[in-house]
Amino acid sequence: MTTDKDELKQKILKLKSEKNAVVFAHYYTRPEIQEIADFIGDSLALAQQATRVQANILVMCGVHFMGETMKILCPEKKVLVPDMAAGCSLADSCRAEDLADFRKQHPNHIVVSYVNTSADVKALTDVVVTSSNAKKIVDQLPKDAKIIFGPDYNLGSYINSVTGREMLLWNGACHVHSRFSLEALIQLKKEYSDAKVLAHPECKATILAQSDIIGSTKALLDYAISSPEKRFIVATESGILHEMQRACPDKEFIPVPPEITEGVGCSCNECEYMRMNTLEKVYNCLLNETPEMKVKKEIAEKAITSIQRMLEMS
Ligand code: SF4
Repeated sequence: MTTDKDELKQKILKLKSEKNAVVFAHYYTRPEIQEIADFIGDSLALAQQATRVQANILVMCGVHFMGETMKILCPEKKVLVPDMAAGCSLADSCRAEDLADFRKQHPNHIVVSYVNTSADVKALTDVVVTSSNAKKIVDQLPKDAKIIFGPDYNLGSYINSVTGREMLLWNGACHVHSRFSLEALIQLKKEYSDAKVLAHPECKATILAQSDIIGSTKALLDYAISSPEKRFIVATESGILHEMQRACPDKEFIPVPPEITEGVGCSCNECEYMRMNTLEKVYNCLLNETPEMKVKKEIAEKAITSIQRMLEMS
């Protein structure tokens, strides 16, 4: 039986081909979005992939800063995002004007920013990092360098612990990764004593201390694929479970639930911003070629310098 979803998928595939468009989906988007995408990945990998495709239109299904990063790397292409309002609690925790003030208060510091930031923040940054290359890049900075790291406090704290640095940390957090329940994780470990615990470094130190493998979303996926283990407890956004299960149909993936905090967002381990991408919005944005991502030229020029520095150092 053909469902509405199937029909929409067919219409999207037809529009993609008619308009020479390519659809990119982050690992945290809904399964049906990942199913119609040409490329699935993390934010930087998708933006880099976008520079290599021959297409007139790029559709970035993710959150706002991902569309910006893609536009900065592909200024000559039309970059569409299904919902301009899909933000990111981590990127929002570091406003450019606040970072500019912080830099003034701490002169002579190198500013290292996680890729999960706005274009305005990247423009104030010396070098951008991802969760995969942060250690490698920080290791290359002069040993006596004073460093500001932002905006994710947990990732910065983890990088301090593995590099022996004492970077000054911005106090930002992702509302999904900072809320995993330690109590629930300990209980799951007791219940599934054979399982390996996979965690993203945006999680709190208490969660990381209980984990076997700490890495970026892609690193956790790669570990799950190559490991002989059959069962994994996963502490990152639950959208990745779709790709993990698709790539490893014979393995079991158990998501860690969040702490239940009254009045705070949803009580699941899903990023509601990522879930704002729907098939209907993808269809409409392809049909109408809007909303289109724009980044001011002067901001894009500064932001690309900090992104290119990362590419050279990673
Ligand atoms: S999961 Fe967290 S860091 Fe990722 S887009 Fe959502 S709010 Fe931002």
